[in-house]
Amino acid sequence: MPQFRLDKEIPPQENRFTLLGPEAGHALRVLRYKVGDKILCLDPAGTRIEGIIEKIGEDLIAGSILNRRPFKESSLKINLYASILKTQAWEEVLEKGTEIGVAAFMPVLSDYSAITLKKEDYPRKIERWKKVILSAVKQSERDSIPEINCPRPLNEILGHDLAGDVSLFAWEKLRGNQDQDFDLEPVFKNLNLQSLAVNLWIGPEGGFSEKEVELLLKRKVKPFSLGDHVLRAETAAVVACAQVEYQAKRALLLKSPLG
Ligand code: SAH
Repeated sequence: MPQFRLDKEIPPQENRFTLLGPEAGHALRVLRYKVGDKILCLDPAGTRIEGIIEKIGEDLIAGSILNRRPFKESSLKINLYASILKTQAWEEVLEKGTEIGVAAFMPVLSDYSAITLKKEDYPRKIERWKKVILSAVKQSERDSIPEINCPRPLNEILGHDLAGDVSLFAWEKLRGNQDQDFDLEPVFKNLNLQSLAVNLWIGPEGGFSEKEVELLLKRKVKPFSLGDHVLRAETAAVVACAQVEYQAKRALLLKSPLG
């Protein structure tokens, strides 16, 4: 069931909701919601409510709240440091990354990126990227909306140490290497943590330059392999996110008292 974004937070004692603007317009005109239908909405704090529609107007839906589920902080936070790609490939990274569970997108300007972005275009681009992310949030029924940051050059981001528990970069030069040291599983195995923030770096179409690899290694970002073949950057981003999500969640579950 799709979910719609409310403009304002719903306080705990509130029992009514109002959905306005293009979100309501989409529900009414495209998805044909009617009075009496149930609807799922997400407020800016990540509270998801199920409501029943009692009133509709021009770009307005209002009704009563039937139940709510507060936002649960996830124990895994993936910060995806993905090099900017051409529009379609980049939007694919945003869409699929959101579906898989990326917490924050950090667009990276790398030496071998196939596109260059002008600073004055950032606000327009970010608006568009937010739309792509939001529609993937709805589609995947996620409880939280991933952050999207301004594009920044790789060497600027790596000008100092990164926050987070684990930092990794996908390096196609390691493919075919049998050394288990470049697998993801052992990375998460020996971490004794209740929650985990992972910085995951993916290169652009042309890969990371030698200088960039040097800098990543200097900052203790650990290289890992995604198998025997060279993947397109957007494929690599999706596969890497899915693998990290799986391995890290597994490690966290095994550590939890219920695990
Ligand atoms: N160097 C190549 C391809 C770059 S692939 C070229 O010159 O065309 C784009 C990005 O995807 C890489 O920077 C890397 O982060 C990731 N990637 C692709 N295949 C990979 C693999 N088998 N293992 C790890 N990372 C991979």
